[in-house]
Amino acid sequence: MECSRRDQVTTENQYTMQNPLTQYPQPEFPNQTQTAPGSVHQLQPAADHGETSYKGFGRLAGRKALVTGADSGIGRAAAIAYAREGADVVLNYLAEEEADAQEVVRLIEAEGRKAICIPGDLKDESFCRSLVSKAVDALGGLDILTNVAGKQTAQKDIAELTTEQFDATFKTNVYAMFWLCQAALPHMPSGATIINTASIQAYQPSETLLDYAPTKSAIVAFTKALAKQVISKGIRVNAVAPGPFWTPLQPSGGQPPEKIPSFGSETPMGRAGQPAECAPIYVLLASQESSYITGEVFGVTGGNPLP
Ligand code: NAD
Ligand code: MG
Repeated sequence: MECSRRDQVTTENQYTMQNPLTQYPQPEFPNQTQTAPGSVHQLQPAADHGETSYKGFGRLAGRKALVTGADSGIGRAAAIAYAREGADVVLNYLAEEEADAQEVVRLIEAEGRKAICIPGDLKDESFCRSLVSKAVDALGGLDILTNVAGKQTAQKDIAELTTEQFDATFKTNVYAMFWLCQAALPHMPSGATIINTASIQAYQPSETLLDYAPTKSAIVAFTKALAKQVISKGIRVNAVAPGPFWTPLQPSGGQPPEKIPSFGSETPMGRAGQPAECAPIYVLLASQESSYITGEVFGVTGGNPLP
């Protein structure tokens, strides 16, 4: 694997005015593959999840948050940001991701916040229900449900797309979100928020993501419908739709391997996003600052507009 001086994240922080085109590494990236679900430590160049860059402003002081996919990528960035903003966090991830998750735990605890690990497979309905009830017990309630976990496995030909994969992608991305929302809502007070993770794939599907892209369209529609249903309780529901982000999902089967070196180059910004660049919108949508926003989908796409 080729190493370059771009192996290290170079940005000082997200608050210094600078050119966003050169703020983070740009393609070409080295050829690389991982075995799903992957680890942040095998990403070359390393990704920025806000470990040293995200600064909190007390926007979520005392809030109780459950974040899925919290070990790596966008979920890791959201979990770190939530803790820096003053929230206690329950982290869900797969058992084999424990090492990545423990780093997030240490960062959250360094903020003086609670970090509670509840690993497990979200494809399992009973696990989803127990995750919510254990999170409520551990945190003493639930104010923020942030669904970030997702499965993306590229297949070039519909003939190669198995029923097992189609089912696993829908279970992970759509059913788990439904089960977690259903289980969480009875515990959520007015002012609570749900944030789902869609994708630009909901609107501009790639030919290799015949199962994944429709899960993201389903997440958009589910978010808008649920938002209308639960606003009477004072609960808001929104979604974030990322463009190409530099996370383990992509080199661990999310893209055909030959697409990794140029990953992100197709955006107007010409580079992939870093998870830290997604965190502020997850914070905004969780916080009272977004009090008049519900049923919306926010693109973080490097310039490819959502419809
Ligand atoms: P990631 O690999 O870092 O995170 C995905 C996480 O999903 C994993 O860490 C894992 O903990 C979790 N997960 C997967 N299957 C699971 C299961 N069965 N049970 C429990 N947890 C499971 O990658 P990421 O890119 O940060 O992905 C986060 C979300 O962002 C996903 O919903 C993904 O679809 C979405 N997204 C990513 C991109 C991108 O380019 N990276 C673009 C648009 C949307
Ligand atoms: Mg992971």
